[in-house]
Amino acid sequence: MTNSKRAIFLDKDGTLVEDVPYNVNPELIELTWHAGQALQILQELGFALIVVTNQAGVARGLFTEAALGPVNQRLSDLLAQYGVRLDGFYYCPHHPEGVVGRYAVPCTCRKPMPGMLLRAASELDVDLSRSWMIGDILHDVEAGRRAGCQTVLIDNGNETEWKLSPQRTPHHSAPDLYTAATMIAAIEREGVAGGEAATQ
Ligand SMILES: [Mg+2]
Ligand SMILES: [Zn+2]
Repeated sequence: MTNSKRAIFLDKDGTLVEDVPYNVNPELIELTWHAGQALQILQELGFALIVVTNQAGVARGLFTEAALGPVNQRLSDLLAQYGVRLDGFYYCPHHPEGVVGRYAVPCTCRKPMPGMLLRAASELDVDLSRSWMIGDILHDVEAGRRAGCQTVLIDNGNETEWKLSPQRTPHHSAPDLYTAATMIAAIEREGVAGGEAATQ
């Protein structure tokens, strides 16, 4: 376990890319403001970068799982311009009220459940307790907390219900992904400094 990676789990829509509901057209995918630079900072800190995204459009019959391949590819191409490489891309195709039989089921991967994070942690050897979840709604925060991660809510107006509970209370908030990244970098520096002080 000592060599386990630390990861940043990233919500996609509204966090990493501009939110276009149920979009799978690669041409309409755009990074949010300074998202490339944000992931550059996090990658340089040594974090694995893992997308965890609810894609209920599959269960709703709006697109197929195969359509998510080009989405992942476009995202990778956009980030490559910043020297950033994603370490994982996980999606939940389910929704209990879907119309496509095998996807129209309750599951443990749809956020706010932590299944995608747990699976990624197992497959990619991630230490969840030293990892972060960043997303723009409280379902992201809850998934992160359930997985045992630190959480940052991108408070950009996309959360509209504000059903708060201890599990849904973000550890930190930031107006955008870039600010979240610089905040995590600052916290990391403090942590390192604190660790050095503690050993003296
Ligand atoms: Mg989102
Ligand atoms: Zn699922």
